[in-house]
Amino acid sequence: MPDMNTLQDNLRAVQARIYSACADCGRDPSEVTLLAVSKTFPADAVQEVAACGQQDFGENYIQEGVDKITFLQSDVNAKANPKTSLIWHCIGPIQSNKTKYVAEFFSWAHTVDRLKIAQRLNDQRPAQLPPLNICLQVNIDGGATKSGIAPEEVLALAMQVTQLPRLVLRGLMTIPDPVEGFKAQIALHSQARMLFDKVRAELKLPNFDTLSMGMTADLEAAIHAGSTMVRVGTAIFGGRDYPA
Ligand SMILES: *Cc1c(COP(=O)(O)O)cnc(C)c1O
Repeated sequence: MPDMNTLQDNLRAVQARIYSACADCGRDPSEVTLLAVSKTFPADAVQEVAACGQQDFGENYIQEGVDKITFLQSDVNAKANPKTSLIWHCIGPIQSNKTKYVAEFFSWAHTVDRLKIAQRLNDQRPAQLPPLNICLQVNIDGGATKSGIAPEEVLALAMQVTQLPRLVLRGLMTIPDPVEGFKAQIALHSQARMLFDKVRAELKLPNFDTLSMGMTADLEAAIHAGSTMVRVGTAIFGGRDYPA
């Protein structure tokens, strides 16, 4: 770690940010799940944060995630840390040749943006595991080079995904480009929130309850706009040595 804060201090500080953001906008903190983004950090850092009670972890690079998951689930580790049962979220791009690993190792995939990927995840989800939780990634600010489905295409893809029995459609996910200022951040995140509400009203699915948005720099604005899951890396684990 480059600074003297422990991972536990960092985690508690992020939890405090979530609590105070919720207090500021009259939301119950239990509505907001913290997803600790551990990409580029080793399994022992995950273990340290997990030992403080953190359960949900996100990984961007599928092979890196699988290596950590396998290590942390290994017999030796399970014996040493019997209380650690972690929930793993895939939050990075999913190519067709990687769907098998997402289906076999993760509980959530946040970045589904086409039917072909959803179908492969469905077909490859092992029978002994519960259905895979899915968020559709939406390109909410229309960045030309960004992944994610266009907002006007979300409803059609959502309906198709609900037909796949080994998947559970949980909600939407966004990664908007950074904008300056709290009000502008809220305005951007509110677009995602409105789309989320619209899809939820159309589909009437009991499990459609997740709006995955907000990171280290903008989690307060995301919470104000209605995020139910903030994905935080830097504020917990520190700066990364290679770019996201
Ligand atoms: C890296 C990453 C995060 C965490 O970003 P921080 O700014 O470090 O909090 C969240 N979501 C996605 C999709 C990421 O790739």
